[in-house]
Amino acid sequence: RVPDLSLPDFLLRAADDRPDAPAVIDAASGRTVTYGELRRDVRRCAVGLRRRGMRPGDVLAIVAPNSPEWLVACLGAMAAGGMVSGINPLYTADEIAPQLRDHGARFLLTIPPFLSLVRSAAAGGVEPDIMVLGEAPDDGAGATPFADVLAAGEGGHLPGGLVDPAVDLALLPYSSGTTGLAKGVMLTHRAMVTNVEQMQAVMALSPADRSVAAAPFFHAVGLVVVAGVTLRAGGTVVTLPRFEVDAYLAAIAEYRVTVSVVVPPIVLAMARHPAVDRYDLSSLRLLGSGAAPLGADLQQECAARIGCPVGQGYGMTEAVAAIALFDADLPVVPGSVGMLLPGVEARIVDVMTGADLPAGETGELVVRGPQLMAGYLNNAEATAATIDADGWLHTGDLARFDADGNLFVDDRLKELVKVKGLQVAPAELEALLRTHPAVADAAVIPVPDERAGERPKAVVVASGPVDAEAILAFVAARVAPHKRITEVAFVEAIPTSPSGKILRRLLVAQDRAGALSAERPM
Ligand code: ATP
Ligand code: MG
Repeated sequence: RVPDLSLPDFLLRAADDRPDAPAVIDAASGRTVTYGELRRDVRRCAVGLRRRGMRPGDVLAIVAPNSPEWLVACLGAMAAGGMVSGINPLYTADEIAPQLRDHGARFLLTIPPFLSLVRSAAAGGVEPDIMVLGEAPDDGAGATPFADVLAAGEGGHLPGGLVDPAVDLALLPYSSGTTGLAKGVMLTHRAMVTNVEQMQAVMALSPADRSVAAAPFFHAVGLVVVAGVTLRAGGTVVTLPRFEVDAYLAAIAEYRVTVSVVVPPIVLAMARHPAVDRYDLSSLRLLGSGAAPLGADLQQECAARIGCPVGQGYGMTEAVAAIALFDADLPVVPGSVGMLLPGVEARIVDVMTGADLPAGETGELVVRGPQLMAGYLNNAEATAATIDADGWLHTGDLARFDADGNLFVDDRLKELVKVKGLQVAPAELEALLRTHPAVADAAVIPVPDERAGERPKAVVVASGPVDAEAILAFVAARVAPHKRITEVAFVEAIPTSPSGKILRRLLVAQDRAGALSAERPM
């Protein structure tokens, strides 16, 4: 039932009937790219890349902030039969290098400020053909302006049959690396088209819809959920180069954005913004949140603050983007990440034995569906450990379904705090801590304990008068004894990844190094 098209052909269908409709607006410059222009540029890019030697199976790495050109380059490389791998531009050269080595990128697109970073990351490796957006700087020897690549592709011929959607890979994203080394994920054109169709079946966006890409395009939320679904519907994507809450709210107001899908730190920033009413958010009819846990309280607090429903979705890089999504036609179920997308099957299994659990119980979520990855790149062992012979993918997440089919995700198995053999989900305590009037944000990490094995420690950003004692008492009054926080540290900000995950790993390392303080920062 899914169209047999490459991802670029699938996403650019609106160019046939509505070439003058706006496809992408760059919030940084205010420039609009129509569907006709987008399709023309994607074609020029594909031909231009082929003239530079790109052949099917070659990889284009993109290390750049969100912009219309990001999408042109991405779809252009895919149309040429290439694979695209977006890389987090906040990574260091040491973090980028293994990814470049892993997929052997032959082409790389970046912006001038990142040139030296990508050069040192690529040193001694495949030495990709480097292209830059905007003016190539004087010291950018060997870096080709992306505009020249497009110009070289003008009027050229793009042979047919470059892509077999069912088997050819389109995207090689890396998992967020929240729990360890990021893994390369192999996604076919078909898997991506399928997941966009699955989401659109629920989201039902129309050409009148406008979304804003505040989440980065190197992650599934920005590229697939926001850009993919919006273009599929013939709507308009507004690109923001980086997330900053005021710029984001201003973009919603200025471009009359109707739907926005973001990650939980953005929900938090909006809910706790001192003056949301300064922005006209009346165009917004839907806010979605995904990629990390969002407590029901914060979800409702944000909805009240911005005056529109806030729903959740759940997914992972290994499933392109989404596995479950809230249905905008139904009332929001706070705390739920929605219902399974059409075509997805799920089981909840016992974490220890792997046996199926009775309905309503909590265990590991295992899923199967047409949008799953073809495997991890260069890592058959990890693939075999994640997807079994029958196609079931072990998510590593603790979850349950209610009687209506609403999915609730507690947290990752790997990050549970194990107190005397009982498991405590940090996300539950974090959500509770955020309901304290003097707590702006919080994270929960395990600390080793001789008697209990581990016990939970809170890392708190205070926004008002509060001390450790008050926080311990607040939590103790609201949870079972084994979940009680036993220690508190105060910090200025909770570290999160661009895909919205709390970097508990970092906090644990700081804690072990004695770098977390029980004193409130002045
Ligand atoms: P890595 O696998 O490299 O450690 P990661 O799992 O954080 O990184 P992603 O693929 O970006 O990388 O994230 C998928 C994970 O995000 C899921 O397995 C789940 O733990 C979490 N997640 C996604 N959506 C939600 C949600 N709505 N609520 C709770 N957790 C979520
Ligand atoms: Mg993961």
